[in-house]
Amino acid sequence: MRLSQLFTKTLKEAPADELAINAQLLIRGGFVFKNSAGVYSYLPLGLRVIQKINNIVREEMNAIGGQELLMPTLVEKKYMEPTGRWNLDVGFFAKGINDQEASFVMGWSHEEVLTVIASKFVSSYKDLPFAAYQIQNKFRNEARAKSGLLRGREFMMKDMYSFHSSDADLAAFYERSKEAYTNVFERCGLRSYCTLAGGGVFTENFTHEFQVLSEVGEDTIFLCTGCGYAENIEISKLKDGDTCPKCNGKVVEKKAIEVGNIFKYGPKYSEKLGLYYKDENGADHPVISGAYGIGIGRLMATVVETSNDKDGIIWPENIAPYKIHLIMLPGGEEASQKLYRELSEKGIEVLFDDRDDKTAGEKFADADLIGCPLRVVVSKKTVEKNSVETKERNKKETDLVPMDKLVSGML
Ligand SMILES: [Zn+2]
Repeated sequence: MRLSQLFTKTLKEAPADELAINAQLLIRGGFVFKNSAGVYSYLPLGLRVIQKINNIVREEMNAIGGQELLMPTLVEKKYMEPTGRWNLDVGFFAKGINDQEASFVMGWSHEEVLTVIASKFVSSYKDLPFAAYQIQNKFRNEARAKSGLLRGREFMMKDMYSFHSSDADLAAFYERSKEAYTNVFERCGLRSYCTLAGGGVFTENFTHEFQVLSEVGEDTIFLCTGCGYAENIEISKLKDGDTCPKCNGKVVEKKAIEVGNIFKYGPKYSEKLGLYYKDENGADHPVISGAYGIGIGRLMATVVETSNDKDGIIWPENIAPYKIHLIMLPGGEEASQKLYRELSEKGIEVLFDDRDDKTAGEKFADADLIGCPLRVVVSKKTVEKNSVETKERNKKETDLVPMDKLVSGML
């Protein structure tokens, strides 16, 4: 992508009303645009990051047998009323043209919709187990839409639901989902802690949250510095300085961002929505279920919160919008154009700063702000040595690399 063609631009200053680092940097870098409080557009650079995160999520969900589908945003009253979740405050409601009152809610969770779908296909124990997921925008009428993309009113989410014939089968899948979740966050450059938590407003049982340490997090957890065992303060009997219940490690109190959560809801929605299966003897039982969520936009924001410096974002390689930020400086015009073509032809992702109305200082500042892993500069000085100057985003020192070595080294 040529920066001269990109319709968005970087901003020197963050908007005054954005206090969160993630929103400040994502807006300044041209990744997102704030449309309303808690409502953002993903601009071309931001969407590339989102798509990379989504592909990692897909790979990990597919690896444990998840099947992708896409359910409607408009969820009719008939789905939510039987489970008592129609009139919850979290809903944004919509009215059909002939309706006296709201008949749809903008989907904020899809247990009901998928349970009804499943009830049309599941009849026998032989039809179980299975898990299905979608990546979709969700809507929640948050009273306090703040913290940038950490808490939105419209936000992208991966939600998966699993269906089983026994508690034991659900428990086994639940453990596999923990591994898949840990993999997702690790591949996105985050160290997450699987944290025992309460049910929140949606379920009565214990659940697990995936927490990433950050001072801006809304959650407080007690974390063992020895084995990584963690509990959310909301349910924990631990306190700062305690000995870990799993090992002899020391427990510390930490602020954290919840990037994912998983919970078992058992037969709750199956019973209310008629999802039953027949066992080997022909007896009917409600299907046993679990739900597994990851906030995609929140995940991107968490990476920005935990991986930045005073100059901008430092993207982990796997989810960076581009691998290389190529900068053309005076005397390097021809050579940088040629290098851009070569790298692009070989399928290497390059953001090419070919703008001729920006100073070297402005271009370097934009490269740091946007945060691609490798900066490559082509100038009169480097061309004379048939080389390019490279610098990794998270390091200070630069290297002089022969032009052909750069291309072969990226493959
Ligand atoms: Zn421990």
